[in-house]
Formats: sequence, C-alpha cells, structure tokens
Amino acid sequence: MDEFKFIDSIKQSTYKQSSIVKGIGDDAAVFRQNYQDVVTAVDTFVENVHFSRETMDPYHVGYRVLATNISDMAAMGATPTYYMISIVIPEDWSDKELQEIYQGMKAVASNYRMDLIGGDTVAGSELVVSVTIMGIVEKGKARYRSDMKENDILFVTGTLGDAAAGLYILTAKELDKVKTDKYLIDRHRLPTPRVTFAEALGELDRVALNDISDGIASEANELAVASNLTVHFDLLKLPKHNDLKQFTSEQQRNFQLFGGEDFELIGSVPEKDWNKVQDAAKKTNTEVTQIGFVSDEVSNNDLVFIHEGGEKKVLIKGGYTHGR
Ligand code: ADP
Ligand code: MG
Repeated sequence: MDEFKFIDSIKQSTYKQSSIVKGIGDDAAVFRQNYQDVVTAVDTFVENVHFSRETMDPYHVGYRVLATNISDMAAMGATPTYYMISIVIPEDWSDKELQEIYQGMKAVASNYRMDLIGGDTVAGSELVVSVTIMGIVEKGKARYRSDMKENDILFVTGTLGDAAAGLYILTAKELDKVKTDKYLIDRHRLPTPRVTFAEALGELDRVALNDISDGIASEANELAVASNLTVHFDLLKLPKHNDLKQFTSEQQRNFQLFGGEDFELIGSVPEKDWNKVQDAAKKTNTEVTQIGFVSDEVSNNDLVFIHEGGEKKVLIKGGYTHGR
C-alpha cells in the first residue's frame, strides 16, 4: 500500500472533540483551547524491545501502546483528547497487520472519545510506534508526583501484579506448569487506564498521582524522590486478584512489587480526603485500597519502606529489599 492510501485508510471521517480545527490532511493539526491546561506526553515502542509478536497480536500492540499513554494522562489527572502516531514500518509487516494495529488504537481511543489528529509514516527495518498524546485538565489541576505531604494516606487502584503474571504465562515453558488464565493475559494485552477515577478526584485540592508502569517499587520511589519524603506500605495490603494465587508466594511478591504494566494508579491524599477518594472509586467502579502512609523522616537516601512479616525493609526500585 502506498503512503497516501495508508494515511487515507486510517484517517477518521469525523472528529469527536469539538476543539479540533484541523485534523489529518494538512502539514500540521490545529486545535483550539481556551480555558484549560493542555497536558502532553510521548512514548516510543520498538518491536522485540517493548512488545513481541510472539505474545501479542497486532491489535494488542495498538491497544496497549495507546493505553500506556492514556495512563500517563490519568496519572496527571487529565482527560485524554487527541493522539498522533509516528510509525516506522518494516517490509515484513503486512497491510492487514498494520490496519489491525490501528484498530487496536481506535478501540481504546473510542472509549475516551479521543481523536487521531496526525502522525508520520516512514519505512525502516523494525516496527516502531511512537505515540504523542494530548489531554486537558482544569487550570492548575494537573496532579504532580511532588504533591505528596507527610501523614498522607498512600493508596493504589485495582490489583497489582496481574499484567506481569499474564506475560509470564504467555512466555512460560512447558515445564513451568503454569495454567493459562485469560484474565491475567488480558491484563497484559489490554490494560485499562484509570482515567475516570482520576477525573473523579477532580474536586480534591491536592492529590499526588503516578501510574504503575514499571512496578510499584519503582513508582513509589518516583513519588518519594519528587516529594522528598518517604513512603511506607504493607506487603499484605497490596490488592491481589484471586487468579494470582496459582503462583508461589515468592512469584506473587515479585509480580506485585516489581512487575510492570498494570497501569494502575498509586497516589496519596490527606487523611481528611480519604472518604472522597473512596466515593470517587465507587462512582467509577474502581477498586481502591489504602496500602500505607507518607512520612517526613528521610535518612540514608532510603525512600521506600515495605513492612512484611513483622519487619520493616528498604525497598530498592531496581528489584530487591534489604534490612535497614
Ligand atoms: P508532511 O509531508 O507534511 O509531513 P505527511 O504526508 O507525512 O505530511 O502527512 C500528511 C497528513 O497525514 C498529516 O496530517 C499527518 O499528520 C498525517 N499522517 C501521516 N502519517 C500518519 C500516521 N502514521 N498516522 C496518523 N496520521 C498520519
Ligand atoms: Mg510527514
């Protein structure tokens, strides 16, 4: 397929966002924003680095790359609105497979009334998909990692470790004796960013948020670094889906602490607002769990503490714990 035909095939015939002045078809897109802050992010996905055709269909690749970026919008408290796709296409990807990638993106985009407003198409040796996303948030209401304060309640949405367990199942060898599990596999392939929940927190004056893309150990560290505080949580309080229980307790712990790509949110709020967080969770049909608290004691650059088996250990973001 030539580039012109390809662009024509992925172009939306109408746009959902009324702020779009010019979508695909000129040298650049135009949108008009009067009263809100615009939030934007970009992420790049390379075949065999960030995804593999052995564990995902092209549809899942598209779905997941856009869902990942939408999750960044959720973590900012923003409503995703538009996206742009820069794609490097190798010869061994068929037209049909490319269309499936775009169908996956379209499927997740339509859940959020998002529009594809532009991109770039080039030939190359490996499939690379780069997603630029834009969203809007009420003026001054973007949610920052640095917004944590001491004595805040630390919480997470959903259940943790599912996506890592799903990937483990997809790549398991015969002798690993794992049972296949559609729920866990779908959590890896078709993640659900927590946009509606984050939007429902809109009335709160202050909430620190981060999305769990590399595992809670890493994200908790990012929050602690940005706020210059320490965070404490309890291993046994981490929300766990029943389907995770086919694995050994060590595997479960690894998936929950260090397994990435659940795209749940971790955040903190003042204690007085905890009931509002629970209301937002109920309203948006989201699970939310209090897992710990924020403290102002900072020593030895130890930032994240995990309480397990009666002990308090330092949790290193790279993937291990040690006594203090
Ligand atoms: P230019 O030569 O000005 O860069 P292009 O031919 O690359 O223009 O793009 C034409 C139009 O198609 C632009 O609106 C561009 O944003 C859009 N576009 C190109 N490639 C893609 C793509 N892979 N996905 C979405 N939109 C695309
Ligand atoms: Mg171009």
